[in-house]
Amino acid sequence: MATLLDGKKIANEIQSEVAQRVLEYKNHNKRAPHLGIILIGEEGASNTYVNGKINACKAVGFEYTLLQFAVTITEGKLLKQIEQLNKDDDIDGFIVQLPLPKHISVDQITTLIDSKKDVDGFTNHNFGSIVSHQPLLLPATPFGVIELLKRYKVKTKGKHCVIVGASRIVGAPMSLIMVKQGQSTVTICHKFTRDLAEHTRRADILIVAVGEPGLITTDMVKSGAVVIDVGITRVPDTTKKSGFRLSGDVDFENIAPKCSFITPVPGGVGPLTIASLLLNTLKAYEQQYT
Ligand code: NAD
Repeated sequence: MATLLDGKKIANEIQSEVAQRVLEYKNHNKRAPHLGIILIGEEGASNTYVNGKINACKAVGFEYTLLQFAVTITEGKLLKQIEQLNKDDDIDGFIVQLPLPKHISVDQITTLIDSKKDVDGFTNHNFGSIVSHQPLLLPATPFGVIELLKRYKVKTKGKHCVIVGASRIVGAPMSLIMVKQGQSTVTICHKFTRDLAEHTRRADILIVAVGEPGLITTDMVKSGAVVIDVGITRVPDTTKKSGFRLSGDVDFENIAPKCSFITPVPGGVGPLTIASLLLNTLKAYEQQYT
């Protein structure tokens, strides 16, 4: 049976470390780090993620400002808001919760965010810095994954890492992080990849970020592999009070007995993404304010 990569436990460790640093700054009469959060619309999942981020800020002693807008906000108004946050010396970093309404271009928004305040690590500048010797603010979810692997002392050097999903915020930066920080040999797969199983079966480390429950079945995983499931999908479930449960992309129940390490969903990568946001916000604060 695999060792469970307990994201919640590691996220709590990181929270305690960040809280300690914040306390030290406050003891030296410095203000607390301050995170801005832009939330657009009333979408249930986004609200849940933002609440998680706010609770994490409270737990470590950060200040936070939540800016909420109706789904009808124009791109122009949102861009103005971002310019204001870029100029605001009291805000060390900010995020724009995704997804955005269809009439707003994620690229336009991301291009305008000051990379020093880009604590989600979405800007081209921060993305590109993954391959430099001094990475800046790393994309939060891939940063969380590499931190999880490091803290569980999972060996990555020289291993074959197969990443399923090539998105701008997860799969693509994950592949560069595994090459540069993990020193792994990387294969990246996406929806046009032919014979996915042929690739995944060769993985020492399999990282899946697609959003398709049940995509990875037991026959697609090598015995002893490390399996990281980034996927989070709301699946209808009448036995739950909320009416849904969260599902990853990996058939956890059948794959866990044959691999060496595996992340659960929920409680795996999700909490680490929030922990990375805290680390990035602290870093942005230290670089701009202290
Ligand atoms: P996305 O839709 O932007 O990208 C999905 C990627 O999967 C694309 O590269 C696409 O080509 C690929 N893909 C689609 N179908 C495929 C298939 N059948 N076989 C192989 N590849 C396929 O999604 P995203 O924003 O990268 O998110 C992916 C998943 O990760 C979602 O479930 C999302 O909710 C989750 N996510 C979780 C966290 C977290 O904190 N745990 C953070 C971000 C995203």
